[in-house]
Amino acid sequence: MKLLQYFMLCVLLILCFILPGKGVKKRAEEIAQQRVRQETRDGSGGDADQQNGKEKTGEDSVISGTSGQKGTIVIDAGHGGDDPGMIGPGGINEKVLNLVYAKKLKELLEAQGYRIVMTRETEDGLYDENQSNKKAQDMERRVKIIKESEPLLTVSIHQNSYPDESVSGPQVFYFEHSEEAKKLAASIQNAMNTELAIERPRTHKGNTSYYILKRSSSVTVIVECGFLTNPQEEEKLQQEDYQDRLAQAVCDGVLTYLKEKDG
Ligand SMILES: [Zn+2]
Repeated sequence: MKLLQYFMLCVLLILCFILPGKGVKKRAEEIAQQRVRQETRDGSGGDADQQNGKEKTGEDSVISGTSGQKGTIVIDAGHGGDDPGMIGPGGINEKVLNLVYAKKLKELLEAQGYRIVMTRETEDGLYDENQSNKKAQDMERRVKIIKESEPLLTVSIHQNSYPDESVSGPQVFYFEHSEEAKKLAASIQNAMNTELAIERPRTHKGNTSYYILKRSSSVTVIVECGFLTNPQEEEKLQQEDYQDRLAQAVCDGVLTYLKEKDG
């Protein structure tokens, strides 16, 4: 009888201490593994983020570049999806050109060691198809991406329009109440006017109504590459050589601004 009691006690001891102990150890191992996975994910840039299903900052935000040690820059290609933006007399959609210029700028800035966050890298907008106010959701998501990326600055790419078709030339807009955005705009405007040898150069301009300038948490400018309402400029804006030079000028303007800011 005593032997049986002793045996039961042993079984009880095993149940109470040894088995749960094993469980705790196993759980600790799981937590450690999770932590390693998390650290790998956080430290390895955007591609890994997407593969592991880490929550994205917006439906179409694409983080790229493995270096990026100099900081983050957001490039926002305006319009997309159902919203073509301005349509030129020759039929080109603004949304298409915006993406072309945004991708070229991305490559140039990445090569300089910046981490680039694109608000979109496809033809699609940033809204859900079942959304009643697609434009509002699209704009809110762009602003959210900018906020969550904590960038050094944001460049939003657009094409301009004006009733008088003779009006032409690139122009940069900034939020009127931001001194830094004004400096960035001046730097990009200057680089474009000089490098593209613009005949009738435009000046950078303050604005208080554009949503992305008003609501953006970072130093943000809108680069209007040219006027799609001007048939000659519409043509020029589609030429790859001009696209490369314009993207280079925007990149140079950004770099000059950042250099001056850092002293
Ligand atoms: Zn636009």
